[in-house]
Amino acid sequence: MKTIIEPFKVKSVEPIRFTTKEEREKILTAADYNPFFIHADDVLIDLLTDSGTSAMSSDQWAGIMIGDEAYACSKSFYRFENTVKKITGLKYIIPTHQGRAAEKILFTLTGGKGKFIPSNTHFDTTRANIEFSGAEAVDLVVEEGKHPELRADFKGNMDIKKLDEFIRATGPENIPLCMITITNNSGGGQPVSMQNIRETKEVCKKYGIPLYIDACRFAENAYFIKLREPGYADKTPFEIAQEIFSYADGATMSAKKDALVNIGGFFATNDEELAMQSRNLLIITEGFPTYGGLAGRDLEAIAQGLEEVLDEHYLQYRIRSVEYFGERLDAAGVPILLPPGGHAIYIDALRFAEHIPQNLYPGQSVCCGLYVEGGIRAVEIGSVMFGKYGHNGELISPPMELVRMAVPRRVYTQSHIDYVIEVVIELYQKRKELPGYKITYEAPLLRHFTAKFEPVKL
Ligand SMILES: *Cc1c(COP(=O)(O)O)cnc(C)c1O
Repeated sequence: MKTIIEPFKVKSVEPIRFTTKEEREKILTAADYNPFFIHADDVLIDLLTDSGTSAMSSDQWAGIMIGDEAYACSKSFYRFENTVKKITGLKYIIPTHQGRAAEKILFTLTGGKGKFIPSNTHFDTTRANIEFSGAEAVDLVVEEGKHPELRADFKGNMDIKKLDEFIRATGPENIPLCMITITNNSGGGQPVSMQNIRETKEVCKKYGIPLYIDACRFAENAYFIKLREPGYADKTPFEIAQEIFSYADGATMSAKKDALVNIGGFFATNDEELAMQSRNLLIITEGFPTYGGLAGRDLEAIAQGLEEVLDEHYLQYRIRSVEYFGERLDAAGVPILLPPGGHAIYIDALRFAEHIPQNLYPGQSVCCGLYVEGGIRAVEIGSVMFGKYGHNGELISPPMELVRMAVPRRVYTQSHIDYVIEVVIELYQKRKELPGYKITYEAPLLRHFTAKFEPVKL
């Protein structure tokens, strides 16, 4: 088989700025050791997130010009609505300015004290929106999804038995909806199988609970199903996506992921009453129901992006290029979450920086090291992002300490990734020199975005 190439050519380029290691040490200190505070211009390869960082196609840019900016019922809204309906089959499509705005509306209307929302794994903004409403977010991912070194095809799956037990123990009347995140971002970008989505739906149906899909990476998930699940090899990603959504009663989506745009999202549901209430909320928070916090041009670009993302050549390149990134690190002995997910490579920081205890944030240390060593920006997904405090103020850590290197869509070439691989391997060879970190400031919710740190010598 020949090399799988980028299925596009480059028409417009954006220079990246080089810095020295000495400069980066100063920059990191000035940023209080939180990569979220590093000016993007001081970053060489930015793997902080794949969210809103996609390169748009020439057709999407053309869509930006074609966008209809009518306040109400713009032509671009109908193109957007038709495209989302074609893929999801869902009845009511409500645009939002990004994924969390859809979550905010959904959980303002369905959440609240005494309510529980189970999921395979909630993403951080989803969890925060649920908790902000007073409800509780519950993660029920399968056991293999908690073991970074374990290879399995669908590590994002919901634990069906646990879900059933949880619903019975909690009472279906206290569970307004169940969610499933595809692919499972916080669980390592791992896919969920069609069979698992079907079985999750069956359990939900048994108890009269609607199933909502967090659809941010639905196309990547569809391609994994095509590659790995018996019976799907000859289906198109579009057909697979349609089947996925056929089990859903609704969906939230950040268009900043698999819609290949820089801003946008939507909420979709089959529940007419909920759709009406959502539109009422949308009007006071986002905007009129046919634009919802977006410009007509954004809706046009989203519609175009949703068509492009289901292209087989694109998905083959996308999934293979992330796999290549992971394969080479794995071959060099760097501990990463296996197998590679759809949008990112996750370093297992507990094994990478074995000498750093969890309460000194090994993931944060690896992130800082990657920046100083090679100007690479990654993000901690571990005790900084998901840590909680117990009654005695002790840190309660999540099951994994990960460092996510997310790959923006269509942005970097193979040589950029080869450079990143070299830097990670170099840092791994020097890992014993990495310090621990302590938090000197933190916000009550989503603390990772604004926390400040200081290194602790070990
Ligand atoms: C990004 C993301 C969200 C939130 O979307 P935003 O557009 O960042 O608000 C929700 N769920 C998952 C799985 C995500 O990856």
